Amino acid sequence: AAGLLALGLQTWYGSRKRGLFRQLRKQMLLDDAGLVLVRDDFCKQMVDGLAKDRPSSLLMIPSMVDIIPTGNERGEYLALDLGGTNFRCVYIKLGEGKGQIDDVKIEQCEIPEHHFTSPAQDLFAFMADRMVTFAKKLGFSRARDGERPVVGFCFSFPCEHISLNSGKLIRWTKKFANPGAVGNDPVQMLEEAFDKIDFPVDVDCMVNDTVGVLAAARYVDSSVMIGMILGTGTNACYVEKIDNVQKLQQTPRKRRRTMIINIEWGAFTSKTLPKLDFDRDLDASSTNPGAMQLEKLTSGMYLGEVTRRILLKFAEETGLFGGPVPTLQEEDALTTPDTSKIDHDSTFFGGPTADILRSELGLGHWQTFWDRQLVRDIVRLVAQRSSQLIAAGIAALLRQMERDGTFGPMERTVVAVDGGMFQHYRAFREELLSALERIMGVEAAHQIVLKHQQDGSSMGAVTMAGAAAPSQVGPD
Ligand code: BGC
Ligand code: MG
Repeated sequence: AAGLLALGLQTWYGSRKRGLFRQLRKQMLLDDAGLVLVRDDFCKQMVDGLAKDRPSSLLMIPSMVDIIPTGNERGEYLALDLGGTNFRCVYIKLGEGKGQIDDVKIEQCEIPEHHFTSPAQDLFAFMADRMVTFAKKLGFSRARDGERPVVGFCFSFPCEHISLNSGKLIRWTKKFANPGAVGNDPVQMLEEAFDKIDFPVDVDCMVNDTVGVLAAARYVDSSVMIGMILGTGTNACYVEKIDNVQKLQQTPRKRRRTMIINIEWGAFTSKTLPKLDFDRDLDASSTNPGAMQLEKLTSGMYLGEVTRRILLKFAEETGLFGGPVPTLQEEDALTTPDTSKIDHDSTFFGGPTADILRSELGLGHWQTFWDRQLVRDIVRLVAQRSSQLIAAGIAALLRQMERDGTFGPMERTVVAVDGGMFQHYRAFREELLSALERIMGVEAAHQIVLKHQQDGSSMGAVTMAGAAAPSQVGPD
Protein backbone atom coordinates (compact mmCIF):
# COMPACT_ATOMS: atom_id res chain seq x y z
CA ALA A 1 0.00 0.00 0.00
CA ALA A 2 2.86 2.34 0.88
CA GLY A 3 4.42 1.57 -2.48
CA LEU A 4 1.20 2.38 -4.30
CA LEU A 5 0.82 5.59 -2.36
CA ALA A 6 4.38 6.59 -3.26
CA LEU A 7 3.75 5.82 -6.90
CA GLY A 8 0.51 7.83 -6.84
CA LEU A 9 2.27 10.79 -5.23
CA GLN A 10 5.08 10.49 -7.76
CA THR A 11 2.72 10.73 -10.75
CA TRP A 12 0.76 13.52 -9.10
CA TYR A 13 3.97 15.49 -8.65
CA GLY A 14 5.04 14.57 -12.18
CA SER A 15 1.87 15.87 -13.73
CA ARG A 16 2.00 19.05 -11.62
CA LYS A 17 5.51 19.66 -12.93
CA ARG A 18 4.58 19.10 -16.57
CA GLY A 19 1.46 21.23 -16.05
CA LEU A 20 3.42 24.16 -14.70
CA PHE A 21 5.95 23.74 -17.48
CA ARG A 22 3.25 23.87 -20.15
CA GLN A 23 1.79 26.97 -18.54
CA LEU A 24 5.17 28.76 -18.43
CA ARG A 25 5.90 27.77 -22.00
CA LYS A 26 2.69 29.41 -23.09
CA GLN A 27 3.43 32.60 -21.18
CA MET A 28 7.10 32.93 -22.09
CA LEU A 29 7.10 32.09 -25.78
CA LEU A 30 5.45 34.19 -28.45
CA ASP A 31 3.28 32.93 -31.25
CA ASP A 32 3.61 34.45 -34.70
CA ALA A 33 1.24 37.30 -33.89
CA GLY A 34 3.08 38.01 -30.64
CA LEU A 35 6.41 38.15 -32.42
CA VAL A 36 5.06 40.65 -34.92
CA LEU A 37 3.75 42.84 -32.09
CA VAL A 38 7.21 42.97 -30.49
CA ARG A 39 8.86 43.72 -33.83
CA ASP A 40 6.39 46.49 -34.64
CA ASP A 41 6.73 48.20 -31.28
CA PHE A 42 10.49 47.95 -31.69
CA CYS A 43 10.23 49.60 -35.12
CA LYS A 44 8.04 52.37 -33.78
CA GLN A 45 10.37 53.08 -30.89
CA MET A 46 13.38 53.18 -33.22
CA VAL A 47 11.71 55.92 -35.24
CA ASP A 48 10.66 57.78 -32.09
CA GLY A 49 14.16 57.48 -30.69
CA LEU A 50 15.64 59.14 -33.76
CA ALA A 51 13.18 62.04 -33.56
CA LYS A 52 13.97 65.22 -31.67
CA ASP A 53 11.75 64.85 -28.66
CA ARG A 54 9.51 61.85 -28.84
CA PRO A 55 9.74 59.45 -25.91
CA SER A 56 11.26 56.04 -26.60
CA SER A 57 12.97 53.41 -24.50
CA LEU A 58 15.49 52.92 -27.32
CA LEU A 59 18.22 55.51 -26.89
CA MET A 60 19.26 55.56 -30.57
CA ILE A 61 22.55 57.31 -29.85
CA PRO A 62 24.48 58.90 -32.72
CA SER A 63 28.00 57.51 -32.31
CA MET A 64 29.61 60.57 -33.95
CA VAL A 65 31.82 58.15 -35.81
CA ASP A 66 32.62 59.90 -39.05
CA ILE A 67 35.69 57.94 -39.93
CA ILE A 68 36.02 54.22 -40.27
CA PRO A 69 39.37 52.49 -40.58
CA THR A 70 40.13 52.02 -44.26
CA GLY A 71 43.24 49.89 -44.07
CA ASN A 72 45.45 52.82 -45.02
CA GLU A 73 46.30 53.68 -41.42
CA ARG A 74 49.89 53.35 -40.23
CA GLY A 75 51.56 53.23 -36.85
CA GLU A 76 51.22 51.73 -33.41
CA TYR A 77 48.10 52.13 -31.31
CA LEU A 78 46.70 51.05 -28.01
CA ALA A 79 43.16 50.46 -26.87
CA LEU A 80 41.39 49.73 -23.67
CA ASP A 81 38.27 47.58 -23.89
CA LEU A 82 35.92 47.58 -20.91
CA GLY A 83 33.21 45.03 -21.56
CA GLY A 84 30.90 43.17 -19.26
CA THR A 85 33.07 41.01 -17.06
CA ASN A 86 36.66 41.68 -18.11
CA PHE A 87 38.69 44.42 -19.51
CA ARG A 88 41.35 44.10 -22.14
CA CYS A 89 44.51 45.90 -23.09
CA VAL A 90 45.03 45.96 -26.83
CA TYR A 91 47.98 46.83 -29.06
CA ILE A 92 48.21 46.95 -32.81
CA LYS A 93 50.93 47.74 -35.31
CA LEU A 94 49.64 48.70 -38.72
CA GLY A 95 52.04 48.17 -41.59
CA GLU A 96 52.72 49.54 -45.05
CA GLY A 97 50.36 47.48 -47.18
CA LYS A 98 46.63 48.18 -47.26
CA GLY A 99 44.98 46.50 -44.31
CA GLN A 100 48.31 45.07 -43.26
CA ILE A 101 48.50 44.23 -39.59
CA ASP A 102 52.08 43.59 -38.48
CA ASP A 103 51.34 42.78 -34.87
CA VAL A 104 48.44 42.45 -32.43
CA LYS A 105 48.52 41.84 -28.71
CA ILE A 106 45.46 41.44 -26.54
CA GLU A 107 45.73 40.91 -22.81
CA GLN A 108 42.65 40.04 -20.84
CA CYS A 109 42.53 41.27 -17.24
CA GLU A 110 40.08 40.16 -14.65
CA ILE A 111 38.32 42.93 -12.78
CA PRO A 112 38.51 42.38 -9.02
CA GLU A 113 35.01 42.06 -7.58
CA HIS A 114 35.19 45.27 -5.52
CA HIS A 115 35.85 47.34 -8.62
CA PHE A 116 32.30 46.81 -9.86
CA THR A 117 31.13 49.11 -7.11
CA SER A 118 34.23 51.11 -6.12
CA PRO A 119 34.32 54.86 -6.84
CA ALA A 120 34.65 55.32 -10.61
CA GLN A 121 38.01 57.07 -10.13
CA ASP A 122 39.41 53.91 -8.57
CA LEU A 123 38.12 51.71 -11.38
CA PHE A 124 39.68 54.00 -13.96
CA ALA A 125 42.94 54.21 -11.99
CA PHE A 126 43.05 50.42 -11.89
CA MET A 127 42.57 50.17 -15.67
CA ALA A 128 45.13 52.88 -16.45
CA ASP A 129 47.64 51.17 -14.22
CA ARG A 130 47.25 47.81 -15.98
CA MET A 131 47.41 49.51 -19.33
CA VAL A 132 50.67 51.28 -18.54
CA THR A 133 52.27 48.01 -17.48
CA PHE A 134 51.08 46.48 -20.75
CA ALA A 135 52.30 49.43 -22.83
CA LYS A 136 55.73 49.50 -21.19
CA LYS A 137 56.21 45.81 -21.94
CA LEU A 138 55.65 46.69 -25.58
CA GLY A 139 58.25 49.42 -25.53
CA PHE A 140 56.04 52.47 -25.06
CA SER A 141 57.56 55.04 -22.77
CA ARG A 142 56.40 58.16 -21.05
CA ALA A 143 55.65 60.91 -23.54
CA ARG A 144 58.41 63.36 -24.41
CA ASP A 145 57.93 66.41 -26.64
CA GLY A 146 54.16 66.04 -26.45
CA GLU A 147 54.16 62.83 -28.48
CA ARG A 148 51.74 60.83 -26.48
CA PRO A 149 50.63 57.28 -27.16
CA VAL A 150 47.26 57.21 -28.87
CA VAL A 151 44.62 55.14 -27.11
CA GLY A 152 41.20 54.04 -28.29
CA PHE A 153 38.56 53.37 -25.67
CA CYS A 154 35.91 50.74 -26.08
CA PHE A 155 33.39 51.57 -23.39
CA SER A 156 30.42 49.20 -23.46
CA PHE A 157 27.86 51.38 -21.76
CA PRO A 158 25.29 53.91 -22.94
CA CYS A 159 27.04 57.23 -23.55
CA GLU A 160 25.73 60.31 -25.18
CA HIS A 161 28.35 61.63 -27.57
CA ILE A 162 29.41 65.22 -28.02
CA SER A 163 32.14 64.17 -30.40
CA LEU A 164 33.97 60.96 -31.19
CA ASN A 165 36.11 61.40 -28.10
CA SER A 166 33.87 63.13 -25.64
CA GLY A 167 30.55 62.27 -24.12
CA LYS A 168 28.57 61.58 -21.05
CA LEU A 169 27.76 58.30 -19.33
CA ILE A 170 23.97 57.94 -19.22
CA ARG A 171 23.88 55.00 -16.83
CA TRP A 172 25.86 51.99 -15.79
CA THR A 173 24.55 48.61 -16.87
CA LYS A 174 25.38 44.95 -16.25
CA LYS A 175 27.32 44.48 -13.00
CA PHE A 176 28.77 47.98 -12.82
CA ALA A 177 27.55 50.54 -10.31
CA ASN A 178 30.57 52.78 -9.67
CA PRO A 179 29.61 56.09 -8.10
CA GLY A 180 30.97 59.27 -9.64
CA ALA A 181 30.70 58.38 -13.32
CA VAL A 182 27.13 58.93 -14.48
CA GLY A 183 26.86 62.33 -16.14
CA ASN A 184 30.63 62.61 -16.55
CA ASP A 185 32.87 62.16 -19.56
CA PRO A 186 34.53 58.72 -19.53
CA VAL A 187 37.27 59.90 -21.90
CA GLN A 188 38.22 62.69 -19.56
CA MET A 189 38.14 60.35 -16.58
CA LEU A 190 40.43 57.93 -18.37
CA GLU A 191 42.89 60.62 -19.45
CA GLU A 192 42.99 61.96 -15.90
CA ALA A 193 43.72 58.49 -14.58
CA PHE A 194 46.72 58.23 -16.94
CA ASP A 195 47.88 61.74 -15.99
CA LYS A 196 47.84 60.82 -12.32
CA ILE A 197 50.32 58.01 -12.85
CA ASP A 198 52.43 60.32 -14.99
CA PHE A 199 51.89 58.53 -18.28
CA PRO A 200 49.77 60.94 -20.30
CA VAL A 201 48.01 59.54 -23.35
CA ASP A 202 45.63 60.85 -26.01
CA VAL A 203 42.33 59.05 -25.98
CA ASP A 204 41.22 59.93 -29.48
CA CYS A 205 38.05 57.85 -29.71
CA MET A 206 35.43 56.30 -27.50
CA VAL A 207 33.24 53.65 -29.06
CA ASN A 208 30.52 51.37 -27.86
CA ASP A 209 31.44 47.68 -28.24
CA THR A 210 28.79 47.24 -30.95
CA VAL A 211 30.42 50.07 -32.88
CA GLY A 212 33.80 48.42 -32.37
CA VAL A 213 32.47 45.17 -33.80
CA LEU A 214 31.01 46.98 -36.79
CA ALA A 215 34.26 48.88 -37.41
CA ALA A 216 36.30 45.68 -37.17
CA ALA A 217 34.00 43.92 -39.62
CA ARG A 218 34.04 46.82 -42.06
CA TYR A 219 37.82 46.86 -42.01
CA VAL A 220 37.67 43.73 -44.14
CA ASP A 221 34.19 43.99 -45.68
CA SER A 222 32.69 47.43 -46.26
CA SER A 223 29.24 45.98 -46.98
CA VAL A 224 28.65 45.09 -43.30
CA MET A 225 26.04 47.46 -41.86
CA ILE A 226 25.18 45.99 -38.43
CA GLY A 227 27.23 45.26 -35.34
CA MET A 228 25.75 43.23 -32.52
CA ILE A 229 26.76 42.01 -29.07
CA LEU A 230 25.31 38.95 -27.39
CA GLY A 231 27.34 38.51 -24.27
CA THR A 232 27.05 39.64 -20.67
CA GLY A 233 24.84 42.39 -22.08
CA THR A 234 23.22 42.78 -25.47
CA ASN A 235 22.98 45.60 -27.99
CA ALA A 236 23.29 46.48 -31.66
CA CYS A 237 24.32 49.38 -33.85
CA TYR A 238 23.75 50.02 -37.53
CA VAL A 239 24.38 52.45 -40.34
CA GLU A 240 21.51 54.94 -40.63
CA LYS A 241 20.81 57.62 -43.22
CA ILE A 242 21.71 60.95 -41.68
CA ASP A 243 18.43 62.49 -42.86
CA ASN A 244 16.57 60.05 -40.61
CA VAL A 245 18.52 61.21 -37.54
CA GLN A 246 16.42 64.24 -36.74
CA LYS A 247 17.76 64.64 -33.26
CA LEU A 248 21.33 65.15 -34.45
CA GLN A 249 22.47 68.55 -33.26
CA GLN A 250 26.13 68.67 -34.10
CA THR A 251 27.05 68.05 -37.68
CA PRO A 252 29.77 65.49 -38.11
CA ARG A 253 33.27 66.62 -38.95
CA LYS A 254 32.94 65.68 -42.55
CA ARG A 255 29.74 65.94 -44.52
CA ARG A 256 28.43 62.41 -44.45
CA ARG A 257 25.26 60.79 -45.63
CA THR A 258 25.24 58.14 -42.94
CA MET A 259 25.78 57.83 -39.21
CA ILE A 260 26.32 54.78 -37.02
CA ILE A 261 23.53 54.64 -34.47
CA ASN A 262 23.95 52.79 -31.18
CA ILE A 263 20.44 51.51 -30.53
CA GLU A 264 21.01 50.50 -26.89
CA TRP A 265 18.39 47.85 -27.41
CA GLY A 266 18.98 46.30 -24.01
CA ALA A 267 16.90 49.19 -22.67
CA PHE A 268 13.86 48.25 -24.78
CA THR A 269 10.70 48.46 -22.68
CA SER A 270 7.39 47.34 -24.08
CA LYS A 271 4.04 45.98 -23.05
CA THR A 272 4.56 43.37 -25.75
CA LEU A 273 7.43 41.68 -23.87
CA PRO A 274 6.57 38.39 -22.14
CA LYS A 275 7.57 39.29 -18.60
CA LEU A 276 6.55 37.09 -15.68
CA ASP A 277 6.63 37.31 -11.90
CA PHE A 278 10.18 35.88 -11.65
CA ASP A 279 11.38 38.47 -14.19
CA ARG A 280 9.94 41.24 -12.07
CA ASP A 281 11.63 39.80 -8.98
CA LEU A 282 14.95 39.58 -10.80
CA ASP A 283 14.59 43.17 -11.91
CA ALA A 284 13.75 44.37 -8.41
CA SER A 285 16.89 42.83 -6.94
CA SER A 286 19.20 43.96 -9.77
CA THR A 287 21.65 46.87 -9.58
CA ASN A 288 19.41 48.91 -11.91
CA PRO A 289 15.74 48.19 -11.15
CA GLY A 290 13.34 49.24 -13.88
CA ALA A 291 16.08 49.66 -16.47
CA MET A 292 17.34 47.34 -19.21
CA GLN A 293 14.18 45.27 -19.60
CA LEU A 294 15.10 43.49 -22.81
CA GLU A 295 18.63 42.83 -21.56
CA LYS A 296 17.27 41.13 -18.46
CA LEU A 297 15.19 38.78 -20.61
CA THR A 298 17.94 37.92 -23.05
CA SER A 299 21.58 38.36 -22.15
CA GLY A 300 24.26 36.19 -20.62
CA MET A 301 24.37 38.03 -17.33
CA TYR A 302 20.76 37.04 -16.63
CA LEU A 303 19.74 33.76 -18.28
CA GLY A 304 21.31 31.59 -15.58
CA GLU A 305 19.59 33.61 -12.88
CA VAL A 306 16.22 33.54 -14.68
CA THR A 307 16.57 29.75 -14.85
CA ARG A 308 17.39 29.52 -11.16
CA ARG A 309 14.32 31.55 -10.30
CA ILE A 310 12.13 29.28 -12.39
CA LEU A 311 13.63 26.19 -10.75
CA LEU A 312 12.86 27.76 -7.39
CA LYS A 313 9.27 28.31 -8.48
CA PHE A 314 9.05 24.65 -9.45
CA ALA A 315 10.54 23.61 -6.14
CA GLU A 316 8.00 25.72 -4.25
CA GLU A 317 4.95 24.88 -6.31
CA THR A 318 5.55 21.31 -7.42
CA GLY A 319 8.07 19.92 -4.97
CA LEU A 320 10.85 19.64 -7.56
CA PHE A 321 14.09 18.60 -5.82
CA GLY A 322 12.07 17.94 -2.69
CA GLY A 323 11.28 21.64 -2.25
CA PRO A 324 13.06 25.00 -2.13
CA VAL A 325 16.41 23.93 -0.67
CA PRO A 326 18.61 26.84 0.57
CA THR A 327 21.17 26.61 -2.26
CA LEU A 328 18.39 27.14 -4.78
CA GLN A 329 17.58 30.41 -3.06
CA GLU A 330 21.03 31.90 -3.54
CA GLU A 331 21.13 34.63 -6.16
CA ASP A 332 23.33 33.87 -9.17
CA ALA A 333 23.93 30.30 -8.01
CA LEU A 334 23.44 29.31 -11.64
CA THR A 335 25.28 31.11 -14.47
CA THR A 336 24.59 31.15 -18.19
CA PRO A 337 27.74 29.10 -18.92
CA ASP A 338 26.20 26.50 -16.56
CA THR A 339 22.85 26.49 -18.32
CA SER A 340 24.45 26.34 -21.74
CA LYS A 341 26.34 23.22 -20.61
CA ILE A 342 23.05 21.72 -19.47
CA ASP A 343 21.47 22.64 -22.79
CA HIS A 344 24.30 20.92 -24.66
CA ASP A 345 24.30 17.82 -22.45
CA SER A 346 24.19 14.78 -24.71
CA THR A 347 24.60 12.14 -22.00
CA PHE A 348 20.90 11.77 -21.13
CA PHE A 349 21.58 14.34 -18.41
CA GLY A 350 23.73 12.02 -16.34
CA GLY A 351 26.99 13.90 -16.94
CA PRO A 352 27.22 17.70 -17.08
CA THR A 353 23.64 18.33 -15.92
CA ALA A 354 23.95 16.12 -12.85
CA ASP A 355 27.38 17.62 -12.10
CA ILE A 356 26.14 21.21 -12.29
CA LEU A 357 23.05 20.53 -10.21
CA ARG A 358 25.30 18.94 -7.60
CA SER A 359 28.16 21.46 -7.65
CA GLU A 360 26.21 24.70 -8.13
CA LEU A 361 22.94 23.95 -6.39
CA GLY A 362 24.00 21.24 -3.97
CA LEU A 363 21.34 18.90 -5.38
CA GLY A 364 22.84 15.46 -5.06
CA HIS A 365 20.42 12.76 -4.06
CA TRP A 366 17.24 14.59 -4.94
CA GLN A 367 17.51 14.51 -8.66
CA THR A 368 15.89 11.86 -10.79
CA PHE A 369 16.24 11.38 -14.53
CA TRP A 370 12.89 13.10 -15.04
CA ASP A 371 13.90 16.05 -12.91
CA ARG A 372 17.08 16.50 -14.93
CA GLN A 373 15.11 16.33 -18.13
CA LEU A 374 12.74 18.98 -16.78
CA VAL A 375 15.72 21.17 -15.87
CA ARG A 376 16.98 20.87 -19.44
CA ASP A 377 13.56 21.80 -20.81
CA ILE A 378 13.42 24.86 -18.56
CA VAL A 379 16.92 25.91 -19.62
CA ARG A 380 15.91 25.57 -23.26
CA LEU A 381 12.71 27.54 -22.68
CA VAL A 382 14.67 30.45 -21.22
CA ALA A 383 17.04 30.40 -24.20
CA GLN A 384 14.13 30.19 -26.63
CA ARG A 385 12.43 33.23 -25.18
CA SER A 386 15.68 35.15 -25.40
CA SER A 387 16.30 34.10 -29.00
CA GLN A 388 12.77 35.07 -30.02
CA LEU A 389 13.15 38.56 -28.61
CA ILE A 390 16.58 39.08 -30.15
CA ALA A 391 15.19 37.85 -33.48
CA ALA A 392 12.34 40.37 -33.21
CA GLY A 393 14.94 43.09 -32.62
CA ILE A 394 16.97 42.04 -35.65
CA ALA A 395 13.82 41.88 -37.78
CA ALA A 396 12.83 45.39 -36.65
CA LEU A 397 16.30 46.71 -37.37
CA LEU A 398 16.27 45.22 -40.87
CA ARG A 399 12.87 46.77 -41.46
CA GLN A 400 14.16 50.18 -40.36
CA MET A 401 17.06 49.73 -42.78
CA GLU A 402 14.62 48.60 -45.45
CA ARG A 403 16.53 45.36 -45.69
CA ASP A 404 13.85 42.96 -44.58
CA GLY A 405 12.43 42.23 -47.99
CA THR A 406 9.40 44.52 -47.65
CA PHE A 407 10.45 46.39 -50.77
CA GLY A 408 11.36 43.47 -52.97
CA PRO A 409 13.81 40.60 -52.89
CA MET A 410 16.29 40.82 -50.11
CA GLU A 411 20.01 41.16 -50.57
CA ARG A 412 22.42 39.25 -48.41
CA THR A 413 22.92 41.18 -45.17
CA VAL A 414 25.86 40.50 -42.91
CA VAL A 415 25.50 41.10 -39.19
CA ALA A 416 28.82 41.10 -37.35
CA VAL A 417 28.38 39.60 -33.89
CA ASP A 418 30.59 39.17 -30.87
CA GLY A 419 30.04 38.15 -27.26
CA GLY A 420 30.36 34.98 -25.25
CA MET A 421 26.75 33.96 -25.55
CA PHE A 422 26.86 34.02 -29.30
CA GLN A 423 30.27 32.40 -29.42
CA HIS A 424 29.80 29.59 -26.92
CA TYR A 425 26.07 28.83 -26.76
CA ARG A 426 25.45 26.79 -29.90
CA ALA A 427 21.89 25.75 -29.03
CA PHE A 428 21.03 29.41 -28.53
CA ARG A 429 22.46 30.30 -31.96
CA GLU A 430 20.31 27.60 -33.53
CA GLU A 431 17.22 28.87 -31.75
CA LEU A 432 18.01 32.38 -32.94
CA LEU A 433 18.16 31.26 -36.56
CA SER A 434 14.88 29.40 -36.34
CA ALA A 435 13.21 32.36 -34.62
CA LEU A 436 14.42 34.57 -37.47
CA GLU A 437 12.88 32.15 -39.95
CA ARG A 438 9.60 32.33 -38.12
CA ILE A 439 9.41 36.07 -37.96
CA MET A 440 10.84 36.93 -41.40
CA GLY A 441 10.01 33.88 -43.45
CA VAL A 442 12.52 31.21 -44.37
CA GLU A 443 13.71 32.84 -47.57
CA ALA A 444 14.39 36.27 -46.12
CA ALA A 445 15.97 34.78 -43.00
CA HIS A 446 18.42 32.83 -45.12
CA GLN A 447 19.69 36.10 -46.58
CA ILE A 448 20.95 37.11 -43.16
CA VAL A 449 24.43 36.04 -42.20
CA LEU A 450 25.33 36.20 -38.52
CA LYS A 451 29.09 36.37 -38.68
CA HIS A 452 31.16 35.93 -35.55
CA GLN A 453 33.62 38.80 -35.30
CA GLN A 454 36.35 37.42 -33.05
CA ASP A 455 37.70 40.08 -30.65
CA GLY A 456 35.54 42.55 -32.60
CA SER A 457 35.19 45.24 -29.95
CA SER A 458 38.91 45.29 -29.15
CA MET A 459 40.04 45.22 -32.77
CA GLY A 460 37.48 47.84 -33.72
CA ALA A 461 38.56 50.21 -30.97
CA VAL A 462 42.26 49.88 -31.70
CA THR A 463 41.91 50.35 -35.46
CA MET A 464 39.54 53.26 -34.83
CA ALA A 465 42.25 54.78 -32.65
CA GLY A 466 44.49 54.62 -35.70
CA ALA A 467 41.88 56.08 -38.01
CA ALA A 468 41.12 58.95 -35.63
CA ALA A 469 44.76 59.81 -34.90
CA PRO A 470 45.60 63.35 -36.07
CA SER A 471 48.42 62.15 -38.30
CA GLN A 472 45.93 60.01 -40.20
CA VAL A 473 43.36 62.66 -40.96
CA GLY A 474 44.25 63.42 -44.52
CA PRO A 475 42.19 64.86 -47.33
CA ASP A 476 38.81 63.25 -47.98
C1 BGC B 1 25.19 48.32 -22.69
C2 BGC B 1 25.55 48.53 -24.14
C3 BGC B 1 26.49 47.43 -24.60
C4 BGC B 1 25.89 46.07 -24.31
C5 BGC B 1 26.79 44.94 -24.73
C6 BGC B 1 24.67 46.90 -22.47
O1 BGC B 1 24.47 46.68 -21.11
O2 BGC B 1 24.19 49.23 -22.29
O3 BGC B 1 26.16 49.79 -24.32
O4 BGC B 1 26.71 47.57 -25.98
O5 BGC B 1 25.61 45.96 -22.94
O6 BGC B 1 28.02 44.96 -24.05
MG1 MG C 1 33.76 42.58 -25.33
